[in-house]
Amino acid sequence: MPSKRPRLLVTAGPTVEPIDPVRFLSNRSSGKMGYALAETAVANGCEVTLVSGPTCLAPPDGCRFIPVKTARDMRLAVLKAFPKTDVVIKAAAVADYRPVRPARHKIKKTADEFVIKLTRNPDILKELGMKKRPGQVLVGFAAETRSLLRHALEKMAAKNLDWIVANDVLKKGVGFESEENAATLIARDGARIKFPRQSKVKLAAALLKIILASLRG
Ligand code: C5P
Repeated sequence: MPSKRPRLLVTAGPTVEPIDPVRFLSNRSSGKMGYALAETAVANGCEVTLVSGPTCLAPPDGCRFIPVKTARDMRLAVLKAFPKTDVVIKAAAVADYRPVRPARHKIKKTADEFVIKLTRNPDILKELGMKKRPGQVLVGFAAETRSLLRHALEKMAAKNLDWIVANDVLKKGVGFESEENAATLIARDGARIKFPRQSKVKLAAALLKIILASLRG
């Protein structure tokens, strides 16, 4: 019997892409927005799976927690959970590129310059957009430093999303590594709701209220 509680899959945090056994490429994502969404969803009676890259945060009580490191690990975990999911919220900052061939041993400082060749990581959300069944809802995040709304709308179309949360990560005190965030939630039909600067926990509650209400039709 299908569960009546909405089944949410949340991704959070950065991914880390190894350069050698002791170094990696990553980004400034703290995971706070995704963890706040997972915690709020549990509190709202959802069945929550949290797939997270490395962060300093404790996984919220009551969710199924799947820790991952690389974008490729995250892809496998997300694709496995996707068929039994009603809503996917991809708040993770997935690394767009990874080193082509991580060194097997620590790279020594000999040359004055050296080049790390990178290759594209899979775009997990785009793949979900191609696979999604009627009724499954996909929510993406667009963290941008310029032309925020234009980029967000382009992403929503390119990845076949139902909602996108656009946030300007260069604004002071909001976004990456911060306790607070300000964002615009954009629906597939172009409707926009602007959320002023507030705690990530409050923003998570406000976003989820709208997204979960849309599930109920
Ligand atoms: O295209 P861009 O990477 O900026 O899109 C951001 C959205 O796509 C976020 O929701 C992010 O979690 C997701 N994403 C993904 N796989 C990637 C890159 C981004 O799922 N490789």
